[in-house]
Amino acid sequence: MRRISIFGATGSIGQSTIDLIKRAPDAYHVVALTGGRNIAQLARDAIDLKAEIAVTGFETCLSDLQNALAGTGIEVAAGPQALIEAADRPTDWVMSAIVGAAGLAPGLHALRHGGVLALANKESLVTAGPLLKSEAAKYGATILPVDSEHSAVFQALVGEDISRVERIIITASGGALRTWPLEKLATATVAEACTHPNWDMGQRITIDSASMFNKAMELIETKEFFGVSADQIEVLVHPQSLVHALVGFVDGAIMAHMGPHDMRHAIGYALHWPQREKLPVERLDLAKIGQLEFSAPDLQRWPALRLADEVIRRGGLSGAIFNAAKECALDLFLAGEIGFQDMAQVVELVLNRHWQNSAGSHKFDVIPLDDVLKADHTARVWARECAKTLHN
Ligand code: NAD
Ligand code: MG
Repeated sequence: MRRISIFGATGSIGQSTIDLIKRAPDAYHVVALTGGRNIAQLARDAIDLKAEIAVTGFETCLSDLQNALAGTGIEVAAGPQALIEAADRPTDWVMSAIVGAAGLAPGLHALRHGGVLALANKESLVTAGPLLKSEAAKYGATILPVDSEHSAVFQALVGEDISRVERIIITASGGALRTWPLEKLATATVAEACTHPNWDMGQRITIDSASMFNKAMELIETKEFFGVSADQIEVLVHPQSLVHALVGFVDGAIMAHMGPHDMRHAIGYALHWPQREKLPVERLDLAKIGQLEFSAPDLQRWPALRLADEVIRRGGLSGAIFNAAKECALDLFLAGEIGFQDMAQVVELVLNRHWQNSAGSHKFDVIPLDDVLKADHTARVWARECAKTLHN
């Protein structure tokens, strides 16, 4: 039996992972399931999957979780330290699907068992890619992509030599506001930014899709996963989201990966890797689909893409600053304190401040966790300050 843990089990990716696990309960021993405030879901899944321990990331939810699991024999814990302790329990396969920078520390600890870390939490790679990769190498662990685009690239690269790759193209649906007139974007509300045309995802990533911050994060993630340069990474707008990524080789060939919009494909690929197993996803009928559209992204509409390109070129702590400023700007947008397009402006102001202050520092590739966390904290403080200066 494979020992597995799921971090962020109550979220969209977590629930899709559980759907696959529940189809073959005898194949897995579930060590830890973690969630946030949805205690009923966490408790239900912990009971169904006979987990050793259930952990909520929030201390204030501890007594609810204790009550929900009283008498079941399932251990219970709460808080960021408890998430790390859960990650320290030996496992063979771990799903990292907490949203945001909160997923970094548990992922780093999970790598120490030398198994597979299935990485949905792109924020980990964006904030601390080199650290994550060096820890994986140190402990003999494998990091597998779960983001659909990166899983697609990974699959297109099987049996290929990365030095023969000319470019990697990841696709973007364009999100909820793709066809809105540019001048109307500033007025977009949370509800309007929150409906994704193709994918059913968590609220934060859905808004990040509309602003293209999700794709911007994925550009940085591409650089970290595959070690290519900024010049080799491209974004292509593809509203149908059926081609997830394309890899162009030196001989002019392009390998494209297609599939339905169902994250159980990328999750299942990471779960069964290096094998392929049958998965309960729709089979595409291309004759019925008929046409696929592609276009170049408009950088005026989506400034996040331009910022990501600069982040990749500058390296160092730029990714950590970018992610934290983006998370904070999104919090401010959700709270109604700034507008939809102000998010990119806030992130740009924070990045410029960082680059002015840090020219030439952090030449080392692998930046220690403490420095990453300090940069994360500073970027959030700066983002709040910068947001106040907008529209003055
Ligand atoms: P979600 O909001 O649906 O779920 C997030 C999970 O993280 C929940 O279990 C929540 O309880 C938990 N969580 C949130 N804050 C926490 C905290 N401070 N401490 C501990 N746990 C916390 O998000 P999602 O859409 O499932 O996305 C999860 C991750 O996967 C994100 O990094 C996202 O970018 C990535 N991802 C998601 C999709 C998708 O289709 N949903 C696709 C690609 C990548
Ligand atoms: Mg993606």
